[in-house]
Formats: sequence, structure tokens, C-alpha cells
Amino acid sequence: MSASAPITQDVLTIPRKMPEGLRNLVGLTREGLKAALLEAGTPEKQVKMRVGQIWQWIYQKGVRDFGAMTNLSKAYRDELAAHFVIEVPEVVRRELSADGTRKYLVRIAGGHEVETVYIPEADRGTLCISSQVGCTLTCSFCHTGTQKLVRNLTAGEIVGQIMLARDDLGEWPEPGRAPKNETRLLSNIVLMGMGEPLYNFEAVRDAMQIAMDGEGISLSRRRITLSTSGVVPEIARAAEEIGCLLAVSFHATTDEIRDRLVPINRRWNIQTLLDALRAYPRLSNSERITFEYVMLDGVNDSDEDARRLVSLIRGIPAKINLIPFNEWPGAPYRRSPWPRIEAFADIVYKAGYASPIRTPRGEDIMAACGQLKSATERGRKSKAEIAAETGP
Ligand code: SAH
Ligand code: SF4
Repeated sequence: MSASAPITQDVLTIPRKMPEGLRNLVGLTREGLKAALLEAGTPEKQVKMRVGQIWQWIYQKGVRDFGAMTNLSKAYRDELAAHFVIEVPEVVRRELSADGTRKYLVRIAGGHEVETVYIPEADRGTLCISSQVGCTLTCSFCHTGTQKLVRNLTAGEIVGQIMLARDDLGEWPEPGRAPKNETRLLSNIVLMGMGEPLYNFEAVRDAMQIAMDGEGISLSRRRITLSTSGVVPEIARAAEEIGCLLAVSFHATTDEIRDRLVPINRRWNIQTLLDALRAYPRLSNSERITFEYVMLDGVNDSDEDARRLVSLIRGIPAKINLIPFNEWPGAPYRRSPWPRIEAFADIVYKAGYASPIRTPRGEDIMAACGQLKSATERGRKSKAEIAAETGP
């Protein structure tokens, strides 16, 4: 963990007033949007076309104001505005790391907060999104795991994280311009932020279906990776109902150690998890499962662990992503020394598996894997801090 201060930290709050009784359209699937429009009086004969038009305004053009939907009549726009809003969660703080990583502190209904991280790379940009405020699981190396679950995010709050990042990156087509197909700033999604996505299945599924819709944000399912700590009964369902790539927080090669690191292992142990992965409906060489493996000094990083790992996963098309442990205040572990990580990677590689070492990104702003934790539980801020954050 770097002790240096973030290079910038700007306060972006624009206080929002969500008018009472108006329903948010963000996060509704096409079916949900259709039902909402019908309920608000849209004639049955027109509804399919209206869904298509409104969908494109919201998810392809990034429009938040019904008044700007120029292919709808003025009367219909007014009617929509009388029933609905188009709202994404509010960014209350944005921090920019020396390496270009951006971390957004995002406020959702009820005043809760989650974190979203944008990681730019040469040929792509990955957004790491959260699925819950806190987490019910208590993985001992994870900062989020020290924060109790406050609540599940809604589908709108999940897809809203993609939309607010696109707002910040300026990645919506300019009015009148067709969307471009050049390399996108935000090209990949990883569900690796706060929370266990498979414990919020429906909302995650709906949000990802919206993100994949070809007339909207239009991200391919192969550019979305869902990371789970190993919620075995939901794994096959993720392939069937979402169809994205899968990453599994493996982290240990014996049940004894995995019980300590990833306590969900006491419910579904290594063998049960591996059986579920072998049966993963989408398993193929082109869609390998990523095994995430956090490197903890003296805990799970021996040569023997590396050899046991490759023998455990034999037969599963896989890639092993080694994650140097990212420290956080009070963390009970230390990162494995670099030569140890490389020696471990080498054994895995020689056994025939890709074994990339994940470069820690955004450590100076506590944005790296496992460092996220929102203020929702950290206690109330002082009035002066709130005033400074919310601006005049
Ligand atoms: N809840 C999901 C997604 C979360 S995090 C899951 O557990 O899979 C994404 C990855 O970061 C997981 O593999 C998680 O185990 C790992 N991680 C958590 N804390 C970490 C830390 N302090 N350093 C490095 N990786 C960490
Ligand atoms: Fe929850 Fe994942 Fe952290 Fe475990 S690693 S506590 S499942 S967010």
C-alpha cells in the first residue's frame, strides 16, 4: 500500500432532488420498461416502438431529460416526465490515481455509498463495479469483508455505475452522430467491486442484460467478467442467464486454508466448487474460467501450493490470475515477495496454464482489488465535511 496522497481529488456533487413518486426508468429491462409505459397510459399499439425509442435515448445516447427526446411528441414527453425520471447514482467524490485509475464514490438511495473503479489500459478500459453495499461474506484478506452488508444494489444502481463512468469519460455519442466503433474508453466490465454478485443475482443479471443490449451500451458478453467467491448453486445459472465470463476467487489449495481465507468454503468446499466449475455450461478453451489467487506471504504461496493448484484444476480450461495482496489499514496479511510470486507463476505456467500477475492499480487511492470499502459503515462525517463535499 502506498502512503502517498492521491494526486487529485475533486468533489463533484450536484445535489439531486428525486421528485416524490416518480419512477426511475434506469435498470428496467425491456420487458419492465414496456410494462411501465403501458401502466402510464402508452397505447398498446405504440408501446413496442416507444420502448425502442426511449431505450436508445437512455442507453445509447446517455440522455437524462425527456425534453431532449426529439423523436417523441411534446405531449408524450410531458407525459413521460409526469411519471418517470432517468436517474443514475450520484458521484460524490472522484479520485484520480497517479496511474490514471479513477475511483468514484457513488451515493445511492438511502444515503449509502459504494465504490466504482475505472482502470484505463493501452487497448481498453475496464470498469470494476459493485453489486452490494458491503458484503455478507467475511473473507479475511478483503477490506470489503470487514464491512457488514448494508443492502443489495438495484439493477439501476448497477447499470448506473456504467452510465456515470461514461458521463465522466465523455463517452456518449454527440447529438446527431452515429455511435463509433473505435476502441472504447470503457470496453470491459468486471463485477469485482464490493459485494458478492451471485448473492444479488436478479439485479446483476438485469443490469448486465441492459449493458449487453445491442441498441444501448452494447458490451459483448465476452467483455464482462463476473467474480464469485464460490456460490456453487448459482454458478450454472450465471452461465445460462447472463452468459458472461466467470472468475472464481480460489485463493487456497486445501480446505483448511480456504476455510480461513474464504469462509464460504465451509459451506461449499474446494471439491464441490470444482465439480460445479467442471459442469459450467459455457466452459470452453476460448472462454476459460479465471481462477483468482491472492498471494499472501507465507499463507498460500509455496511451491507446493502451486503444484497442488494445477493438479486440482486439471481438466478445466483455466487461466490463473495471481493477485499480489493489496494491503489496507489493519490487514492481517502481507503481500508475498515478488520473487515468490514469480516462482509460483512459473510452476503454474510450466504446467500449461496462463498465469498473469495482476498489476496492482490505483493503490495510492485505495482502489486496488479488495481495498474498497465505503463510508456507509465508517461512521458519520462531520457537518463541515458534508458541507465541503456537497458544495454550495
Ligand atoms: N465478491 C467477489 C468479487 C470481489 S473482489 C469475489 O469475492 O470474487 C475481486 C477479487 O479481489 C476477488 O478474487 C477477491 O478475493 C480479491 N481480493 C479481495 N481482497 C483483496 C486484497 N486485499 N488484495 C488482493 N485481492 C483481493
Ligand atoms: Fe465479499 Fe468478495 Fe470480499 Fe469475500 S472477497 S468479502 S466475497 S467482496
